Amino acid sequence: MRANRFDGTITVFGEEPHLPYQRTALSKGILDGDLSDPKITLRPPGYWEERGIHIVPSVRVTGIDAVSRTVELADGSAVGYDALVLATGGTARQLPGASPDLLSLRTRRYVERLRARIDSGPVVIVGGGLIGLEIAAAVSSSEQRVDSAGQITVLEAAASLLSRVVPDSVAEAVAALHRDRGVRVVTDSRITAAETDAVTLADGTRLTGTVISAIGMQPDTALAEAAGLSVGPAGIVVDETLRTSTPRIYAAGDVAARPHPLTGEPMRAEQWLTATEHGKLVAMTIAADLGLATGPSTPVPRVPLAWSMQYSSNIQMVGWPTMADRFDVDLDTSTGTGTCADGFAPTVRCFADERLVGAVCMGRGGAGRALRTEIVKTLEP
Ligand SMILES: Cc1cc2nc3c(=O)[nH]c(=O)nc-3n(C[C@H](O)[C@H](O)[C@H](O)COP(=O)(O)OP(=O)(O)OC[C@H]3O[C@@H](n4cnc5c(N)ncnc54)[C@H](O)[C@@H]3O)c2cc1C
Repeated sequence: MRANRFDGTITVFGEEPHLPYQRTALSKGILDGDLSDPKITLRPPGYWEERGIHIVPSVRVTGIDAVSRTVELADGSAVGYDALVLATGGTARQLPGASPDLLSLRTRRYVERLRARIDSGPVVIVGGGLIGLEIAAAVSSSEQRVDSAGQITVLEAAASLLSRVVPDSVAEAVAALHRDRGVRVVTDSRITAAETDAVTLADGTRLTGTVISAIGMQPDTALAEAAGLSVGPAGIVVDETLRTSTPRIYAAGDVAARPHPLTGEPMRAEQWLTATEHGKLVAMTIAADLGLATGPSTPVPRVPLAWSMQYSSNIQMVGWPTMADRFDVDLDTSTGTGTCADGFAPTVRCFADERLVGAVCMGRGGAGRALRTEIVKTLEP
């Protein structure tokens, strides 16, 4: 907003007791990482002060009155707005019927609980998605654990790991990465009961250890729903420019369901880069709605780009690989850094009806951005 020459009051209410921080660091540094304020804070406190941006931690927004244009806070007070952005993200999804004390990971508070509970014994991770696998990698390579071999199990309900984001060939490579380090990967697993220290599978197998649930997130749409905004299964429904169905209310980041560029369906991204790009886009939209002369506009690509770090292997996912019906695997490592184990560093281009719709690469340094540019070009008229 400041870059768009807005000189009015900007207030950011956040329920967590910290200044904004890099959430992505949590799963990578779950046991050994330095997750202290100076290390993971997004900006030092002076940054916000210099720009007159009021960050108000430890305050939950409890309601919105879209008619009087006010938000209600947990202490009963109310604050007026000319423009309101809902960037409430989401909460960790719960396993149906599981113990409410089951560990999961979304905020720094969860890290404290996990660090207190993970000892040198077995760990069972429910969910072979990005966060579950990053936790497996971080725990199994922790210096605090003498020997993790055979002690860590990842249970995935689908037939392959990362099934929501990567094609089978990459999923197999990722599974090998983990198995090589002694992590047990079980796909097609059906859990019938999950407690804090044991999981039971449909075939009767009982796995004991510290259980961590990593089965995704659900968007935190409660405020929007209560205020009568249009909300769907993917999140708060927004248009291309992040306007919701109610004037002067916008949604951005993980909670926003923006039209998919290929299908038009509302779609949530759940990616850091998308969330930061939404921040820039929503500021431009608000500035236009407030009648401000907007600053230099930054093009905001509509193609998602996410990354993951497992052991020392960087995995990047661009666009929508799982829409594809054909995969073109390039194993030439000469164009990349080849940081994956055994020099295996594939780039997989994913095509639907001969159109490039996604790409995944492992150990290819900054290749994701170039692949993204390729996909962005296919969206141009
Ligand atoms: C452990 C972990 C690892 C990740 N790693 C990667 C990665 O490697 N690469 C990648 O691309 N993405 C990664 N992500 C995803 C990425 O972190 C998210 O896409 C990004 O944080 C979304 O930002 P956001 O601001 O939309 O939501 P969030 O970061 O979820 O922030 C929302 C904030 O709103 C607060 N809030 C909610 N409701 C209220 C309310 N009523 N009042 C006040 N405050 C409220 C919440 O407490 C929270 O602090 C990871 C996510 C997690 C959890």
